[in-house]
Amino acid sequence: MPLIVQKYGGSSVADSDRLRMVARRIAATREAGHDVAIVVSAMGDTTDELLQLARGVSSEPVARELDMLLTAGERISTSLLAMALHELGHEAASFTGVQAGLRTDQAFGDARILDVQPARIADAIAAGVIPIVAGFQGGNDDEDVTTLGRGGSDTTAVALAAALGAEVCEICTDVDGLYTADPRVVPHAQRLPYLSTEEALELTAHGAKVLHRRSVEIARRHGVSLHVRSSFGETEGTWISDDPVATALAADPLSSDPHASVHQHADLEESPVEQPIISGVTHTDDQSMLTVVGAPDVPGTAAAIFAVITGAVATVDMVGQTHTAADTGLIDFSFALPMEDATRAAKALQREQDRLGFATLTLTDDVGKVSVVGDGMRSTPQVSAQLFEALSAEGITVHLIAQSEIRLSVVVPLEQLEHATRVLHGAFGLDAVELAVVHGEAAA
Ligand code: ADP
Ligand code: ASP
Ligand code: MG
Repeated sequence: MPLIVQKYGGSSVADSDRLRMVARRIAATREAGHDVAIVVSAMGDTTDELLQLARGVSSEPVARELDMLLTAGERISTSLLAMALHELGHEAASFTGVQAGLRTDQAFGDARILDVQPARIADAIAAGVIPIVAGFQGGNDDEDVTTLGRGGSDTTAVALAAALGAEVCEICTDVDGLYTADPRVVPHAQRLPYLSTEEALELTAHGAKVLHRRSVEIARRHGVSLHVRSSFGETEGTWISDDPVATALAADPLSSDPHASVHQHADLEESPVEQPIISGVTHTDDQSMLTVVGAPDVPGTAAAIFAVITGAVATVDMVGQTHTAADTGLIDFSFALPMEDATRAAKALQREQDRLGFATLTLTDDVGKVSVVGDGMRSTPQVSAQLFEALSAEGITVHLIAQSEIRLSVVVPLEQLEHATRVLHGAFGLDAVELAVVHGEAAA
């Protein structure tokens, strides 16, 4: 029987009623003739609550202990979901990440999956038992438990789908798919029926938190068809794949002719002949801006500053430079990076202040980043002009700019972030007439 891996997020299993609803949904998939393996996140805000508990006893919790604590959240939801399935007359068994064969590196809090050997999961499926796997966790070679980073249950699900050779990995969540913007911020955002993995990577890397970015990387590398959809109904969501035939087959695994179903598949048929220039607009407030003020405007300054920063942090996404005043011979450099990295980079720069010769450093987290993403940008150079026009017409200040082949990002003041997102969504013609569907409470 074709295998479907389904992942249910925290808000989809937030309480007993929702757990029972998810159990019914899983039972229905099983009864429709599919094998299923389930990955589940911690209930509701459990992970945040566990983090609060840790902060109550320690200002800087030991990484190993924090992972031990956080993995408890997914133990609760997996075991309860297995019980709810038993109640419906289905055999089900819960598994921790380690029991499911997820081996990771040593990096507590942000561990990478090294390999997945899901023998116990495959055995359960073969025995007609529905396996319920704890998302977001694995084990390292020291037999310690590790976590994959916030939102990491998506990555567990796709890695498991790849290891089991599943037809499709369904990411079941509290919105109906991946939208042209966060539907909680842009009420007229549209569901994207189909997306290339490259666009999905850019969208998820720059704010579309409906998917953990690393889950898309695994899907891309292993050719897993991803379907992001609602846990609260059966409506078609967003397909992410680089292979329309595989997508059609995954959408209709019982079909004998995948090529025919490419044409039958309503959502693929919906795709216009030419892609719109912009597929989506994302926003994120996890950025802060570090400015090196009053550095000498001589060759080599930028390189020296940059070397210190890249020695202290893994990646710097955005960089800008401005002359403090045309005739002072001084220059300012600004960098956007996550707050923790910015603090680390600031400390490293401070240590080198005499050698680098700058006047002061400023650090603010009152900024956010808006990005427009689309394959069509490759052949449309005027996107940046359109973007700046739209923002300046609304009086929105742009601090920093970064561009890749299919993305343009700007850093704006935090209080203008959501407005900027809505403005760009409208300016690039993405506003739908209807309102987007959002289930459940606002995400934490
Ligand atoms: P889960 O608990 O199911 O993992 P998340 O809260 O991690 O769900 O992700 C779903 C949320 O992602 C949505 O409620 C939505 O507010 C947010 N989101 C941000 N950008 C997008 C987008 N482009 N499309 C859909 N949802 C988005
Ligand atoms: N429970 C974890 C978190 O809140 C993992 C996840 O939800 O994907 O980040
Ligand atoms: Mg999530």
